[in-house]
Amino acid sequence: MNTTDHVTRIVVVGGGYAGTMAANRLAGQEGCDVVLLNARPQFVERIRLHQWVAETGEAAHDLDALLGDGVRLVVGVATLIDTGRRHVVLESGDELPYDRLVYAVGSTSKSGFEHAFTVGDWESAQRLREHLATERGPVTVVGGGLTGVETAAELAEQGLPVRLVCNGPLVPSFGDRGRRATARALDTLGVRVFENRRVAAVGPGSITVVGSGADEEWPSATTVLATGFDIPRLAADSGLTTDPDGRLVTDESLTSVDDPRIVGAGDAVAPSNTPLRMSCQAAIPLGLHAADTVIAAINGAPAQPIRIGFSGQNASIGRRAGVIQMCRTDDMPRSMVISGRLGAFVKEQVCRFVLRGIGIEARRPGRMRGMSRKPRTAAELAQAVAS
Ligand SMILES: Cc1cc2nc3c(=O)[nH]c(=O)nc-3n(C[C@H](O)[C@H](O)[C@H](O)COP(=O)(O)OP(=O)(O)OC[C@H]3O[C@@H](n4cnc5c(N)ncnc54)[C@H](O)[C@@H]3O)c2cc1C
Repeated sequence: MNTTDHVTRIVVVGGGYAGTMAANRLAGQEGCDVVLLNARPQFVERIRLHQWVAETGEAAHDLDALLGDGVRLVVGVATLIDTGRRHVVLESGDELPYDRLVYAVGSTSKSGFEHAFTVGDWESAQRLREHLATERGPVTVVGGGLTGVETAAELAEQGLPVRLVCNGPLVPSFGDRGRRATARALDTLGVRVFENRRVAAVGPGSITVVGSGADEEWPSATTVLATGFDIPRLAADSGLTTDPDGRLVTDESLTSVDDPRIVGAGDAVAPSNTPLRMSCQAAIPLGLHAADTVIAAINGAPAQPIRIGFSGQNASIGRRAGVIQMCRTDDMPRSMVISGRLGAFVKEQVCRFVLRGIGIEARRPGRMRGMSRKPRTAAELAQAVAS
């Protein structure tokens, strides 16, 4: 229970997986005024952006419809968190006062070359989709991680000639069986995979590839970079401690190391300075935990450390196949792999459950749980990965 008659003003910055979960949970807390600030009125289901680009699925949903009754949506972009005055300053010049703030600004596409496209956020996916509406020439996807594989497969299934260039092995985070299953499924769709090659330059209709002897120039009507995600600079610009990539550094309860009124969740935080794999699989339990930490602070209770663990890595390979690489809680691959149509089915159910879970927390705050068989703190996870 709130120990004072005072209404606690909570601003959640960022309406992605972590932020919507946090806002919905907080709305169930008596005596709280919860505002969710998001850059747009839609919830962007980033895990379906490759489908949006290939026109095989929707990725934007009315955000208001996913929020609990007690959450007020404000559409705008935060440019500064003024921790002294406890105000969030918006691009529009408006300000939102807060007593507690949840920082959940997520991540965006990593860009690099002027003539390359990206797929990791709404605006860049939209640009790529518009480009592909008229351009059916050879496509190069750069980056052999999960986003690169999913994007290459989705476009190839729509009849585009696609090559995938990886600067190391294909899906390095998978085990051997998962990697072989992925290679077979990509081959079935006609995707040509080039491992251990680096794209050094991207022109309007070609790329320069380094890796097997002399540099080679290959035709590429569309080049898509899937080489990782960038982190927004809001925390750093606001004078908060961040890791070298710009993630807000927190303790194990997800509280900022600078300011007890600020709690973080999702791709944009580094608990104990050791970020988890950027994923909705981590963002959702982190969002729920961030809300629990805020609620504990309001009630004068001790904040609990996060207990989190991974279960698997999923890649859709077009609409008819998928590879589910089962993992240990520290995200290291196990021998078990689910592939083919069953893999596609499991992946689709995971995607649906994510949206459904946000709705469940909206209707019944406190209902959703983190999803781990043998949870650990972030520091324990990092230690397990390092050993
Ligand atoms: C193609 C693709 C496939 C993926 N597949 C998977 C998968 O299968 N499994 C998985 O676990 N993960 C997957 N991911 C990764 C996953 O989407 C991200 O890790 C996840 O979205 C992170 O959630 P988040 O809540 O931290 O941030 P986000 O979902 O990025 O949400 C952040 C929100 O904050 C808003 N925002 C940012 N800055 C501001 C600001 N200054 N003011 C106001 N609003 C702001 C943004 O507009 C956005 O709405 C995939 C990603 C991509 C691109």
